[in-house]
Amino acid sequence: MTNQEQNITDGFGRVHDYLRISLTERCNLRCTYCMPEEGIPLRDKAEFMSSEELLTIAKVFVKLGVKKIRLTGGEPLVKKGFENLILKLGELPVELALTTNAILIDKYLGVLKEAHVKKINVSLDSLKADVFNAISRRKYFNKIVENIDLLLVNEFHVKINVVLIKGTNDSEIIDFLEWANNKNIHVQFIEFMPFDGNNWNLEQNVSFKEIMEAVAAYYGIENIVKLEDAKNDTARNYKIINSTATFGIISSVTNPFCSTCNRIRLTADGKIKNCLFSQTETDLLTSLRNGEDLEKLILNAIQAKHKERGGLEEFSNDSVKKIKNRSMTVIGG
Ligand code: SAM
Ligand code: SF4
Repeated sequence: MTNQEQNITDGFGRVHDYLRISLTERCNLRCTYCMPEEGIPLRDKAEFMSSEELLTIAKVFVKLGVKKIRLTGGEPLVKKGFENLILKLGELPVELALTTNAILIDKYLGVLKEAHVKKINVSLDSLKADVFNAISRRKYFNKIVENIDLLLVNEFHVKINVVLIKGTNDSEIIDFLEWANNKNIHVQFIEFMPFDGNNWNLEQNVSFKEIMEAVAAYYGIENIVKLEDAKNDTARNYKIINSTATFGIISSVTNPFCSTCNRIRLTADGKIKNCLFSQTETDLLTSLRNGEDLEKLILNAIQAKHKERGGLEEFSNDSVKKIKNRSMTVIGG
């Protein structure tokens, strides 16, 4: 048995105290960069963690030093029994956060407050209804914008995740920053990452450099101020003078921030991924059901973590074809 002060550390000395749990692979949207149009193949319920199993596994991570848990998916709010689960997770001594498409936020607002969830990241890839609905292949734009307002009125910390794709929404960088001005919103621009089934190619990626150039061209380079990044932040963060808007750029493709990574991912079927791009997984759920020691498995899985991007040296159209990775909705973004 390991003692309570133990940290989850990898072979490069990085302490891993942030767990992202995918509650479900399913989703009520079909974002082109994330999900195949037909959705993902349905699997037997028994292949996934029940809420009780998820809680048991989460408690092992907390015992090993995890301080923050973010719930994601798929769409976490479509998980059956979400209400009870979040309340139980809310009892753990961790900061609890959520990444969601916000379609069901109005339904769960009360319970999110009760569970002390304060930080909510909402994905919204366009401020134009027709563009957003085309990207997400559904028609929930108005509902999502209403629910973002609801979160703001209720004083949640809201970050908006925008995956930029060339020719689709890259003309909206300034629109997002102008929209965020005078609202308590932080915008995170995310580079388009390669996963199974999302037809990634480098030419569609909008790079860190291109995003900064667009912002500088509009506001003037002298008006962009670097903010201090939190220790394990994967984004580089900035503010704009004379605006309340702040923004970050997550450039996993052109400028990965692996050196300070503290993230562990737990998939809805109970497997640890030690990196978004890792091609190996550790099956905690089967081990839990077999009564095995999860602590040792977790520590070994993180020890085996590669230095950068799951061992992939670069993202190119060729290198990406050679890797096998599950889709983002299955891994949990
Ligand atoms: N359904 C929730 C949502 O959309 O916020 C949570 C799950 S989603 C997989 C988590 C985050 O991953 C979202 O912000 C989404 O935009 C991002 N994401 C999905 N596929 C991506 C990709 N190929 N490249 C970059 N980010 C991606
Ligand atoms: Fe669903 Fe989120 Fe993926 Fe969009 S990005 S399909 S909302 S899981």
